[in-house]
Amino acid sequence: MELRLYDTLTKDKRAFKPIDPRNVRMYVCGPTVYDFAHIGNARPVIVFDVLFRLLRHIYGEQHVTYVRNITDVDDKINDRALRDYPGLPLNEAIRKVTEKTATQFHADVDALGCLKPTVEPRATDFVLPRADGKADMVSLIKTLIDRGHAYEANGEVLFDTASMPDYGKLSGRRLDEQQAGARIAVDAHKKHPADFVLWKQSSADEPGWDSPWGRGRPGWHIECSAMSAAYLGDVFDIHGGGLDLIFPHHENEIAQSRCAHGTHAMANYWLHNGFLQVEGEKMSKSLGNFVTINELLKDWPGEVVRLNMLKTHYRSPIDWTVKGLEESAKVLDDWYATAGDIKGSAPAGTVLDTLADDLNTAQTVAALHGLRHQAERGGEAERNEFASSLRLLGFLAETRADWDARKQEASGVDAAQVSALIADRTAARARKDWKESDRIRDELAAMGVAIKDSKEGTTWEIAR
Ligand SMILES: [Zn+2]
Repeated sequence: MELRLYDTLTKDKRAFKPIDPRNVRMYVCGPTVYDFAHIGNARPVIVFDVLFRLLRHIYGEQHVTYVRNITDVDDKINDRALRDYPGLPLNEAIRKVTEKTATQFHADVDALGCLKPTVEPRATDFVLPRADGKADMVSLIKTLIDRGHAYEANGEVLFDTASMPDYGKLSGRRLDEQQAGARIAVDAHKKHPADFVLWKQSSADEPGWDSPWGRGRPGWHIECSAMSAAYLGDVFDIHGGGLDLIFPHHENEIAQSRCAHGTHAMANYWLHNGFLQVEGEKMSKSLGNFVTINELLKDWPGEVVRLNMLKTHYRSPIDWTVKGLEESAKVLDDWYATAGDIKGSAPAGTVLDTLADDLNTAQTVAALHGLRHQAERGGEAERNEFASSLRLLGFLAETRADWDARKQEASGVDAAQVSALIADRTAARARKDWKESDRIRDELAAMGVAIKDSKEGTTWEIAR
């Protein structure tokens, strides 16, 4: 098996060669913690969790470092703090907003079956130079100024895009085109309209840190350049995120990191997941189809959401539908029925091969259907392989009994009533009253209960 990944920067799928196989390093942009995460946010979290699991499988659990940051300084956070806690001092209000939202985010992604990243740095811990000497934003900005890649103007520090000959390579946007096409009024203090903020001044009532450029706060892009360098070094293996982050966020991360460190690359593979729409429409608050993970988890087990996400290749757009969720739920019922109580030994070759092919989880799910078929007809070896494959992908976190109990609870079916009806039906069958037996079967079916007769007796389950 050879892992191949599609790189947005070089626009090709090629063999993955880590810089150091004893420490494979991946960075993924995390949430800005001011509001509930929506299912669009869940996509990169799930996709890169699968990649994290695959890398751990290939290189060993101790040999993969996965960093996903938390952006806890942002003007959207300030706005939310002022709105939700008008009576509190701003810093205190901000802490309440970020702590509450980060806690919610962790609960959501745990329920989606995602492993914790190796490190989860918070931006506010990396603004000023640190006692441990790890990279920080102020030092990076200083270096950029010293190297002639940034300048101070109008109380801001700006990145000088013209100082980087190949700026725009990731997104394919060229500077001269941007200048020609710029219809918006150019901020007079910028040398070039594409120049972006590294540092901006804070007013007395805004959050701020004392810096060589006065009391202020960092721009968004510099956060990720600092936190990735702090834990992964100047150049690392994989940088991931959603397609919507390619420009300007990732483009600017690359510009900052490469120019500050004097390197030819920030990361060797740039991976981006596709967009997500809901029932055929773009998700937006105004359309009323804005679905948070939190709401979704009230109606569906996290593994159903996870499977529904992985049925589509991560680079393809995904259409999120209730019908898709219903189908995913049925599939998981089957998987739990076959393998829910099996630990497993080693995942199947077909599963590893499809994952290694640029994380083709759509093919992996197809392979799992085949494996389930084999497990149902085969012996312990087949069932072990099937269970192990599911566990590699982050499924079967519950026991089969818990899974069934949850399904039963969600259905509102009274187990005692079902047992009584089945006993009545068994009695009817014993006296060869087929009409009554059929009537009871229909009554159970109307309740959403499917029964199965065998030599051992009658069993039942909730039919989805
Ligand atoms: Zn980022």
